[in-house]
Amino acid sequence: MGRYLGSSCKHCRREAMKLMLKGVRCETAKCPIEKKQRNLSPGMHSWRRGRASEYGVRLREKQKVKRYYGLFERQFMRYFHKAERMKGNTGEILLQLLERRLDNVLYKLNFAPSRKAARQLITHGHIYIKGRKVTVNDYTMKVGDKITVKSSEKSKKKIKGQLESNPNFTTQGWLQVDSEKPEATIVALPTRDDIQIPVQEQLIVEFCSR
Ligand code: SF4
Repeated sequence: MGRYLGSSCKHCRREAMKLMLKGVRCETAKCPIEKKQRNLSPGMHSWRRGRASEYGVRLREKQKVKRYYGLFERQFMRYFHKAERMKGNTGEILLQLLERRLDNVLYKLNFAPSRKAARQLITHGHIYIKGRKVTVNDYTMKVGDKITVKSSEKSKKKIKGQLESNPNFTTQGWLQVDSEKPEATIVALPTRDDIQIPVQEQLIVEFCSR
């Protein structure tokens, strides 16, 4: 699977919100969204753009979520079709499936400063689930799954260092973390309130069902 090599900040500027794609830098004054003169949509003549059409509004909601979780179009649509086949509110199920991705869970546990960094941890073989090494970023976490770190000193030091760098970090209720070992368990499925991105999932469903 390929990966996006362009500017991450450009995505935030396009969506006019902080998507937190660069870890620590996103919390600093260097973030372009914090700087008024740089908080413009990317591209030439962006200030000339008029009001978005109904299609445009829905497209932006979909792009926002896709970029927040760092997915390509085809991956996103795979999640959408999976959510469509499941019982319940398609929009909420879609967000829940995305939230349960292993790279997102590691970010939410503060094992990595960003989803991109979490993906690197996974592909480099630092992460184990139920005692087995997992190297796929899109592994969908289930209730009862236990995440452990490779037994090497280097792996543990890396994750402990990240946990210590942000001692005020609060883990959401559906995750249980033991910072000493370090390890974590999924104790429940994430609810809509746990999913922090401000998005109208119904508009995404309308866009993708056209
Ligand atoms: Fe987005 Fe982070 Fe760049 Fe700010 S620093 S624009 S939040 S990726």
